[in-house]
Amino acid sequence: MAEASVLTRSIMSVPGIGARKAEGFRTLGLTNIGKLIAHLPHRHQREAGEGVIADLVEGVVGTARGEVGACRAVRTGRVSRFEAALLDDSGRVDLVFFNQAFLAKKIHAGDRLRVQGTPKARGGGLQIANPRFELLDEDGDDPEPEATGERLRPIYPASERVASADIERAVSEVLCDALEEIDDHLTEAYCGERELPRLAETYRMMHAPEDESEVADARRRLAYDELLLMQLAVHRRRADIRRLFRAPELDTADTIHERILSRLPFELTKAQARVVQDLRGDLAKVHPANRLIQGDVGSGKTAVALYAMLLAVAEGHQAALMAPTEILAEQHAASIGRMLEGSRVRTALLTGASAERTATLRDLEAGEIDLVIGTHALIGERVRFSSLAVAVVDEQHRFGVRQRAVLRTGAEAGRVPHTLVMTATPIPRTVSMTLYGDLDVITIDSLPPGRTPIETELIPLAGRTAAYADVRDRIGRGERAYVVVPAIDSEQLRDVERVREELSEHYLPDARIGVVHGRLPRGEREFVMDAFRDGRLDVLIATTVIEVGVDVPEASAIVIEHAERFGIAQLHQLRGRVGRGSAASKCWLLGDAETEDAKERLEAVAATSDGFKLAEADLRIRGMGELFGTKQSGMAPFKIADPMKDRELLNLARRDAAAWIERSPGLDAPEEAVLWRRLKRAHGAWLELGDVG
Ligand code: ADP
Ligand code: MG
Repeated sequence: MAEASVLTRSIMSVPGIGARKAEGFRTLGLTNIGKLIAHLPHRHQREAGEGVIADLVEGVVGTARGEVGACRAVRTGRVSRFEAALLDDSGRVDLVFFNQAFLAKKIHAGDRLRVQGTPKARGGGLQIANPRFELLDEDGDDPEPEATGERLRPIYPASERVASADIERAVSEVLCDALEEIDDHLTEAYCGERELPRLAETYRMMHAPEDESEVADARRRLAYDELLLMQLAVHRRRADIRRLFRAPELDTADTIHERILSRLPFELTKAQARVVQDLRGDLAKVHPANRLIQGDVGSGKTAVALYAMLLAVAEGHQAALMAPTEILAEQHAASIGRMLEGSRVRTALLTGASAERTATLRDLEAGEIDLVIGTHALIGERVRFSSLAVAVVDEQHRFGVRQRAVLRTGAEAGRVPHTLVMTATPIPRTVSMTLYGDLDVITIDSLPPGRTPIETELIPLAGRTAAYADVRDRIGRGERAYVVVPAIDSEQLRDVERVREELSEHYLPDARIGVVHGRLPRGEREFVMDAFRDGRLDVLIATTVIEVGVDVPEASAIVIEHAERFGIAQLHQLRGRVGRGSAASKCWLLGDAETEDAKERLEAVAATSDGFKLAEADLRIRGMGELFGTKQSGMAPFKIADPMKDRELLNLARRDAAAWIERSPGLDAPEEAVLWRRLKRAHGAWLELGDVG
């Protein structure tokens, strides 16, 4: 077509918008008609149909007609207003027009008016401020009341310079012409099968709906589009990874499988066994596995990871386990070392503090280390593997998404290890699908046998005597306890030194107390952890360095000072340090919540020890935006869709996207051009394989 498209025409071309108004529209980002049409109402307001004055309801937009009674202009200083009473046989409503004293020339007693506005209660009656009004013919030859009169009015995000009504007016000027030009990236048949409206109709229903059900239908289509684009990006990226990268195919024959299982000091739980079977299938393939293994605190993820790593080692490849803290890396190294005692597997620990760092790096590159356990140091510039086949990232919630990607690039171009990501902060499925859509999620959904439930008690900080009395009794029975403090050193908070002093002088004078935190040198820290593990210490005062992984079954109580300072996931993790042995365990939350959120957090943790429920609660309190908007994701937040509420739609979009990419991996058919353009605009940065390639 020769004529310029309506959608790209300047906002100035809309009848009624001059240079000044256009400037206001521009500050809202509405520079052309396309952008105007894409600027959707954030809600719709039902406007009552026309009735008699007595039917007007306070707070509800209403329309009525009547005869003007007494009226006058009032001036006080620089402010003016025009007041009028409007009457019909049923009653009276007062009208007030601020700064419109000039209306005295236009509206006179005896005139007939139709007005629309929101009545407020004033002086015993109702008053409408700044109503919309229309002067009716004197001879009573009035226009009919609008058919039903009721309508849904779009309310737009607006600004001081441009009111919602301005936008409404502009949209209604151009809507018909604009709709003709809206390209749908989905076909009529596709929409029909899913009971989705076409795109042009969707915009019509958003801007000028007949009723609420049209708004709901339009919203559903727009939410579906957002979710579909996101899922297409996810599946397309996954297809690219499969196409571009290769991982070693591991032999998972029964003999190897049995040999590895016999190394473990216990029988796998059913849940672990199921995950192991899944991994067995994954790792035998040439496509890099990309798994998120989630299992609540203490569900036994380490054994599962070890299984996968030993599959790699069995074939002469290497495996790496990355932990978020040095303490956890050291503990994994110690416990894995114990399990592999007497085997030929060569293990090493690599942290920033490792004295043998240079030698370890050399041996890794030479293939003289089979299994390396470490911290971030594992993804350092100088780390080279001779043949890394399995990479495990433990407690991934402590790492960013980017770091996960970096570990994958550790290998030579085109060759990547199978990657397992483990987390004890269960992510609600809806979120994991959106945030980690490129990962296959598997869940270890039960705990090893013999666990006793943990009792949790929430008390104010000042009530600590009860908590420490309980700890004293436990020590008397040969059990151990953690005491968690929010800071190593603090003016306002109960820090390490202060708590140590109080415990040894006052609450627990006979206990053997140790301290561990991130500023201790490694040797000292290991010494203290070993002493606590072996029972040479009764109480371990610690910062959150013990948050994840630390495993001492004899510890049966944990006291968390200033619990209000910690997040839900953190508290849940900390609590997971106990309840690992046969003694009934107790978690004392000492906290004074100063905010409503903090109170909700503490109460949620006290109410349940189900990690999934807590994850949902966390999401509810912090909101989806927090998860999407910030560090966790490179993806843009949704404008319309809410993956929590739109679960059904998310599932539909996910299935549709998978089938679509299967059918047309390149999305390059001519009829897919519009879709591809929109997909690139929405998720282009993320689609490029910069992270992994
Ligand atoms: P997490 O999932 O929190 O990382 P771990 O792997 O540290 O859990 O396991 C927690 C504890 O449970 C450890 O002491 C581990 O030895 C033990 N454990 C794991 N699996 C089993 C099992 N199948 N039977 C008995 N104990 C197990
Ligand atoms: Mg663990």
